Parts: sequence; structure tokens; C-alpha cells
Amino acid sequence: MDDWDDLLEQTARLAREWLASVDGRRVFPEASVEALRAGFPQDLPEHGEDASKVIEELARAAAPGLVASPGPRYFGFVIGGSLPATVAADWLTSAWDQNAGLYVSSPASSVIEELAGRWVLEAGGLPAGAGVGFTTGAMMANFTCLAAARSAVLDRAGWDVEALGLQGAPPIRVFVGDEVHATVPAALRLLGLGGKTAIRVPVDGQGAMRAEALREALRGAGDASAPTIVAAQAGNVNSGAFDPLDEIAEATREAGAWLHVDGAFGFWAAASPALRHLTRGMERADSWTTDAHKWLNVPYDCGIAIVADPRWQARAMALSAAYLIAADHARDPYDWVPESSRRGRANTVYAALRTLGRTGLAALIEDDCANARRFAAALDGTAGIRILNDVVLNQVLVRFEPHGGEAAGGSAAGDTAAGDARTRAIIAAVQRDGTMWAGGTTWHGLAAMRISVSNWRTTEADVARSVEAILRAAAAA
Ligand SMILES: *Cc1c(COP(=O)(O)O)cnc(C)c1O
Repeated sequence: MDDWDDLLEQTARLAREWLASVDGRRVFPEASVEALRAGFPQDLPEHGEDASKVIEELARAAAPGLVASPGPRYFGFVIGGSLPATVAADWLTSAWDQNAGLYVSSPASSVIEELAGRWVLEAGGLPAGAGVGFTTGAMMANFTCLAAARSAVLDRAGWDVEALGLQGAPPIRVFVGDEVHATVPAALRLLGLGGKTAIRVPVDGQGAMRAEALREALRGAGDASAPTIVAAQAGNVNSGAFDPLDEIAEATREAGAWLHVDGAFGFWAAASPALRHLTRGMERADSWTTDAHKWLNVPYDCGIAIVADPRWQARAMALSAAYLIAADHARDPYDWVPESSRRGRANTVYAALRTLGRTGLAALIEDDCANARRFAAALDGTAGIRILNDVVLNQVLVRFEPHGGEAAGGSAAGDTAAGDARTRAIIAAVQRDGTMWAGGTTWHGLAAMRISVSNWRTTEADVARSVEAILRAAAAA
């Protein structure tokens, strides 16, 4: 035990050093890939080395390549940090080393997952009794939910896809918004439904699916009586826009189709009384995807797949083929996700929701949105800057127009190209500066900086410092 004690103390010290450095260090590291590789011994050692030395050197060699994404001024992609209790719960998860796939291999993991799943449903305002599975992320949650959808719509057409697969099955129509997240077509591809066969429904200027266009497409595209799945979105990855879920639910119900909602981060708006209106109608869907490792601020990795009628989720996923799970039956976590053996992924979700409570969760979501609005207000109209989206959630799209915003006097295409170049140059300069980090995207044909405020630690002061860094870079460009 002495060996364990020393090693765990040392590891706690290294973790503390990292966490203490996160606020002050450059947000994105400067080391080259060659330098990072050179920091590690390249040869598989012939003989085992001392654990303490291995861990110390792992921390030293990794440090120059670590991104301060758990810190308060990382705004790239949609990446949250980790609440303290979730890091602690994650440590315990590793120390416990439970195989959380089965009740019989870890009764505690099964019970925690059951409870965390129930809390997620409550936080999202979803019907109690829905099936919940904890996946690696939203990608696999989309996969899981769309597998349940595939199972259900084919069953209604008299086809058992679990037994027979897709060979000879009735074709399925799939509808997605034109700005669907890339993981939905990827999940469809893995499910044998084709990554490019989904019918793309036109979106509005914010990237939200047009309900009327969906209605028309459901009537007009292909055989309207065919098994049909609609995949809508709560939270566009660029703009944060929500598809009009209530109207979409109505249209989907009329068409007898399955409605899936990808709410990888937007789902959590439902936990805020101030933002819940954005998700109106979300509860009417048949399945939902969300992530815990984005906006719930738990460590990687954790996504959540939810299916209103749990029988379809179990039918698509269960290893034990227990399609009907009695209420008093202990839960086998592997019946709800594609994986068999796995870690107790819900432990961090339990810790997050318990340390936040309903009010803390709402405050986390609302504070991030308030900081997103602060970014937009401070930047819009300054130094040729234009905010491209309506900031309804935590996402801000920033465009840097050429010549400090004055007309170039050239062609429109020339102005667009110049704005693209200026925007990309400023993004690169901001990243080099190291005060903050935001990535680039293309929004309706225009290069833009994407700022996502998803971290529990981001304060108004962090926004002010980051705005200064952006304006510095814009002035120098
Ligand atoms: C991030 C995201 C995903 C993919 O999530 P992962 O956790 O990376 O698997 C899917 N859909 C949307 C809308 C997202 O924002």
C-alpha cells in the first residue's frame, strides 16, 4: 500500500499543478509536433520502469502539448471544462475500476447510472421512463438513438432489422436540416442508411430547419408511406440556433415518422427557466442526444442517448435481448448503448448534477449565455467587426470586414475574399497570442471566428481580457 500511497500523492500533486496552471498559461501551447514527440522515449522498454518515474515523466513530457481547454478562456469548438466534483468522481471511477457494463459486474455502477439517467430526464424536462444510455459522446448517442429509430420505423413496416439487417428491407426516408451536425450523417452511414441519402431540408438565416419546408418534404419526397425518420437539432454548432421543435414535432407526428433531436449542447437550455422556451416541443420527440462533456462540464468522455419508448433502445442495443425490462429488474447498462464492457460513465454526471442542483445548472447555462452576449456587444461594430448570428445561446460568430469596415470600392466577391483573409489572419493571430483560443468556421459562405462559451469558470473579466486580445489582433492585422 505504501507504493499506492506515494504514487497517488504524487499524482494528486501533478494534477494540482496542472489545474493551478490552467488559468495563467497560454491557452494553446507553442510546442511543435516534433518537439512533443521528442519529449517521450521512443523505444518500448525492455524492462519495466518505476511507476513514480513513469508518471512524473508523463506529466513533464505532456505539459508542453496540453491545451488549457478546462480553463476559462478556451472558446474553441463546443468544449466545456470540468466541475471539481466531476474530476474527483472521475478519479474514483478509475480507482474503483468497475466494469459498469453489467449489474452483476458492478451493482453500484448500475444504480448510479439509473439515478443519473433519471436526473438528466428531469433536468431536460423529458418524460420519466425514457431509456437512457451513457455513451462516449454525442456521436455515439446519435448512433444509438438512430438505431432505435431504425428499429421502430422498420418494425411498423413489418421488418425486424435486428434479425435480418437491411438487405431486402423497405427503404427508409431520413430528413435532416441542411445544417445538420456532421455526426448525424456519420451515424446514418454506420447504420447502413448511407451518409449521403438523407433529404436535406432548407434552413433559415440562423441555420434552423424550416418547419414548413419539412412539412412539404415529408409530403413530397419519395413514398410518403415509407418508414420515415426526422433528425432535428437543438443548438446549431455554429449559431446556437434551435430548430422549431414544436412545429417539427407536429409535422413529424402527422407524417407518422420518428423524431430525433440532436441536442449535444442545446439540450441543457431546457434546464434554465430563462432559456427553456428555445426548446419548446423538444419533449415531444421520440429520441434525444446530448453530451455531458460539453455543457454539463464533466471530464471526457460522456454523451447521453435517450429514447422515449425504452423498448426500441433496448431492442436495438441489448446484448441480453431482454426487450422488455421489468421495473424492478436491476439495470444492465450495456443494454442501452453499443458498448459492452466500459467504465462507470455516469458517475461524473451524478456528481455534476448533485453539486449544481437545479439552480446551479440553470446558473451555469445562463452565465455562459450572458458572457456570449457580452462578447457580441463588446465586439459588434468595433474595428470592422460584425456579429453574424443572433446570439440566442452560447455561440457567437465574429466576422472581420476588410479595411476597418469601409467599402473597398471593389467587387462584392473581392470584398468577401478580403474579409475571409482578414478574418483568418486575425483568428491565427489571436491563437498565437495565447490569451484565449477560438477556432474558425465558415458561415453561409463567410469565414468567421466561432466563440463558444461553455465553461463553468468563464467570468466577465475573462470575456473582457479576451475581447482585448481580439481587438489587439484586429488592430495589428
Ligand atoms: C459536438 C456535437 C456533436 C458530436 O458530439 P461528440 O461529443 O463530439 O461526439 C453532435 N451534434 C452536435 C449538435 C454537436 O454540437
